Amino acid sequence: MNVTRREFGRLTALGVAAQFAPALNAQSGKKIGYAVIGLGRIADHFMRGALLTGNSAITGLVSGHRDKADKIAAQYNVPQGSIYSYENFDEIAKNPAIDAVYVALPNSMHAEYTIRAAKAGKHVLCEKPMALNVAECESMIAACKVANVKLMIAYRCHYEPIQLKAIDLIRTGKLGKVQVIESAYGFNEDAGEWRLDKKLAGGGPLYDVGIYCLNACRYLTGEEPTDFSAYASVVDHDGRFDTVEENLVWTMKFPSGAVASCSTTYGAPMDGYFRVHGSKGLLECTSAFGYENVRLRGFYSGTRIDESETTPDPYQFQAEADHFSNCILMNKEPQSPGEEGLRDLTYITRIYRSAGIPI
Ligand code: NAD
Repeated sequence: MNVTRREFGRLTALGVAAQFAPALNAQSGKKIGYAVIGLGRIADHFMRGALLTGNSAITGLVSGHRDKADKIAAQYNVPQGSIYSYENFDEIAKNPAIDAVYVALPNSMHAEYTIRAAKAGKHVLCEKPMALNVAECESMIAACKVANVKLMIAYRCHYEPIQLKAIDLIRTGKLGKVQVIESAYGFNEDAGEWRLDKKLAGGGPLYDVGIYCLNACRYLTGEEPTDFSAYASVVDHDGRFDTVEENLVWTMKFPSGAVASCSTTYGAPMDGYFRVHGSKGLLECTSAFGYENVRLRGFYSGTRIDESETTPDPYQFQAEADHFSNCILMNKEPQSPGEEGLRDLTYITRIYRSAGIPI
């Protein structure tokens, strides 16, 4: 990750560089042990990323499929006694090798497992979207506060160097005043996926991938949106979109007057990108929300920029795990706490309302 000492100083001043700080474990030797709940696609990226850190380890697995859990346990040296089912999950309370959980389940299960983990005295790293609705987010935050455990939402882009570079260029005024942002992210979703079932997913592509555009507009401007308008549609009447939207476009206005227009879909391969138009230039980020090849191009104040991140996947998950473990070891608040996930759910609710979709 190419962050120079000078850049690091600036990012530290912005409060966005904690993930580059050396972990306290250099002194204590302690690694944060994670129990991974839900052994699907994203869990695989996270486990491989955690392994690359010096401060995190996989010490527990929670799955409904014992054969799958056994295979992964062998890969990560997780003892048989640290493999749990959804039924006996609460017994992690008695396992001192588990400091934290990583919730990598369908969205509808995030609240339940975050609250059960907090009650078991474990810190929680929960995947995005934080939960199905604002009320669930609030109960997750409350449960973690009562149990005095940390809660971080796995917004990996907050820990990605190219994104941090874009934030830095904007915060330091190089781009001038942000006027307009465009952002999009989507893909073709297969029939039969839990993401197409509103009960499990909460909603369609906005919950799943549009949330990256929403979140990016917020961290790029450093502002909270105040006004929303949105349209949703279904083009493919083939049964996939009986309960969730296929396409959604929305606009947002920020207190400075900056405006954003965003699109998301489950019906087309849509590369994740953002374009920030400032009074002194343009920043365009491609593959912005992917796992690798994030590229930032543009110009500002007479300077051209073309930078790409060449570190392969799972570097973003490594940075994310390193950051949360560091927060636990040093008793610091994560850069993307539960409140950050709650804000996005608040805005998602307003976007759906504007599009006439009940939530
Ligand atoms: P997945 O379908 O690959 O994995 C989900 C896991 O949950 C599976 O192991 C499955 O067995 C388990 N599960 C338990 N109960 C289930 C049920 N009732 N229905 C379906 N699966 C059930 O999903 P995924 O892509 O890994 O997504 C998991 C979470 O991670 C979601 O919240 C998603 O939004 C999030 N995610 C985040 C990123 C990221 O880049 N941060 C990327 C993909 C997914």
